[in-house]
Amino acid sequence: MLSVLRSIVQEVNAAPDLGVALELIVERVHEAMNTEVCSIYLLDPETNRYILMATKGLNPAAIGKVKLGHSEGLVGLVGVREEPLNLHNAPAHPRYRYFPETGEEKYKSFLGVPIIHHRKVLGVLVVQQRASRLFDEGEEAFLVTISAQLAAIIAHGEASDIISGLDFTGQKAKDICFKGVAGSAGVAIGSCVVFYPLADLNSVPDKECADIEAEIAFFESAVESVRQDIRQVGARLASQLRPEEQALFDVYLGMLDDTALSGEVKNIINKGHWAQGALKEVVQEYVRHFEAINDPYLRERAVDIKDLGQRVLAYLQKPDSSEEREYPQDTILVSEELTPSMLGEVPKENLRALVSVLGSGNSHVAILARAMGLPCVMGVVDMPISKLEGRQVIVDGYKGEVFSHLSPELLSSYSVLVEEEEQISKGFDELKDKPCVTTDGHHVSMWVNTGLMTDVMRSLNHGAEGVGLYRTEVPFMINDRFPSELEQRDCYREQLDAFSPSMVTMRTLDIGGDKALTYFPIKEENPFLGWRGIRVTLDHPEIFLVQVRAMLKASEGLDNLRIMLPMISNISEVEEALHLIYRVYHEVREEGVDVKMPPVGVMIEVPSAIFQVKEIAERVDFISVGSNDLTQYMLAVDRNNPRVASLYHSFHPAVLQALYKIVCDAHAVGKQASICGELAGDPGGAILLAAMGYDILSMNAVNLPKVKLVLRSISMRWAEDVLRRLLCMDSPQVVKSTLELALKEAGFDQFTRPVRH
Ligand code: PEP
Ligand code: MG
Repeated sequence: MLSVLRSIVQEVNAAPDLGVALELIVERVHEAMNTEVCSIYLLDPETNRYILMATKGLNPAAIGKVKLGHSEGLVGLVGVREEPLNLHNAPAHPRYRYFPETGEEKYKSFLGVPIIHHRKVLGVLVVQQRASRLFDEGEEAFLVTISAQLAAIIAHGEASDIISGLDFTGQKAKDICFKGVAGSAGVAIGSCVVFYPLADLNSVPDKECADIEAEIAFFESAVESVRQDIRQVGARLASQLRPEEQALFDVYLGMLDDTALSGEVKNIINKGHWAQGALKEVVQEYVRHFEAINDPYLRERAVDIKDLGQRVLAYLQKPDSSEEREYPQDTILVSEELTPSMLGEVPKENLRALVSVLGSGNSHVAILARAMGLPCVMGVVDMPISKLEGRQVIVDGYKGEVFSHLSPELLSSYSVLVEEEEQISKGFDELKDKPCVTTDGHHVSMWVNTGLMTDVMRSLNHGAEGVGLYRTEVPFMINDRFPSELEQRDCYREQLDAFSPSMVTMRTLDIGGDKALTYFPIKEENPFLGWRGIRVTLDHPEIFLVQVRAMLKASEGLDNLRIMLPMISNISEVEEALHLIYRVYHEVREEGVDVKMPPVGVMIEVPSAIFQVKEIAERVDFISVGSNDLTQYMLAVDRNNPRVASLYHSFHPAVLQALYKIVCDAHAVGKQASICGELAGDPGGAILLAAMGYDILSMNAVNLPKVKLVLRSISMRWAEDVLRRLLCMDSPQVVKSTLELALKEAGFDQFTRPVRH
């Protein structure tokens, strides 16, 4: 059964449109289950009626004509109950509704299962037979499985038909929303430019070659052309990226070396195969290998290899294939799998935002997008990109959503937001040197989170008072080996120097979870609960000691370093880490480096740590809440998974209670409390955190001016009153909408999201 199922899914997946897909489904299910009838009814959301869309066995003339109310007939009953209905004598059922045009009166047995995608009933899949019998358990299970598998394909097909104007309901679609995950904050409106892989490796046939030497030379020239393209792309981005960020392109180039891909391809050519076939074989082997790895970072390297393979193939197929393309002024770059090299092809002044069907907030492209301040949405799995070329879309990089078929209302509310973001950014200079003080005189420290050097430039321009989180794993991630102590020292020195005399909080390496290093793969079933953050570095003191030594030496003469420990879940981890830090400190001093012992802090991001804040804080100088992970762990919701993104409630009452407890407990033992998760960069979140008493809010530099503007316009008394009211609420949605209302009433309509769904 499994192979039948797989082949049906594959075939349906390849269908050019929804109509063909539905016909294929009814045909194949009819064959596989050996039933007399198989039909699909889809629910038209506008009229809330089921329409017979495809059938094998009923009168084909009834297609599109038979329509039932959403709870009408047996089909409606299946939809309302959202579960299978198995009847041996359907006409005898009180809900049976007879349509003479179908000719279905002769069929006694009926099995209907709902087609559900993301909790929404899309339709009902029905099989019928003349004989009066109940379908057996195996048949029922098969139909349920096939319906669950096909739901996403149907949703995708429906969306793509709506986009092409082939909507089966005949209604005009509007504000179609595709959900993904936030890759980089910001909103943009623009025209889609879709990038496809340049050539299709999968369709390359196997052939022999007559002249091996000439074939190798031809292959080498293709590789060299690709190298030049990548170098050019790197050079085009040079003004926006720091050298260490450009290292991404070196990693890319390295994959083309003789020691990697090229060498293997040449070996195969040497055996008499033509270059295209050899390339296909090697790339597919690499891709298979990477895709089988259970590590998100390494799995994403399969994308890079595929991209390179397609580029080389394009030169092998058509040596002059790198023709210049025209880009609209407001280009939204869209691709099945966006890669850093695609990003560099569009002139920066034309590029507004990025959208990728695959990938997560952890992909290289998302890292680059954040560094360049471009809104980016990743993992928009239901988006039929081929239908979007040239279409106007909205990219909401805060919520990870993309809208097409824009209604004038949605377009105008997002235009206001884009305009406001521009206005706010114009006012940055003016705001830059003003203190972040509420109208009743409370100062809230506005710090920033950094990773790439580009963040530093933007932070300084936005008047950051310090760095609350420098993610040291970023320079590690864009390298192809562990950076040496000296390399780390230079990199850290640049950060410390740029912000001096303000403090820079450097977090020790936080790899694992969704942040892996190519050269240090961690293969785990459950990486977020696995070997991550401090757990890795305490198990590898050689990595930890080198990093701390590099940090300390980098701070010589500046003394603006703070060290922070991620993913602490018990006291002994704090003590062991402190022991190692003291050890390095004394060693460094003995070497004659004149540095002060930096303040050391702990991130509170694991639920167990919430209940030991006092014990932890007593041992260190400060604590800082990583609300991104804290929320993920408290709610058991993967922060990168679009399927559960709607459950990731930053304003969940339990999260708010935890945040309040943390700051109170830290203050109770006389220690400073900061927060460096995304919540601090949300104007509403920042109001609550300031009211709770957080001493430092550390956020993405892009959000800083907005938060500062709001905090400078409110009184702490008002914020405390809002907090008091919200802390009594029991639902995340109610908390969020009450907070939005409070913001609106205070005159900050523009900071509550304009999305209407
Ligand atoms: C957090 O978890 O909130 C945090 C700031 O760290 P990261 O996002 O790097 O895991
Ligand atoms: Mg974290």
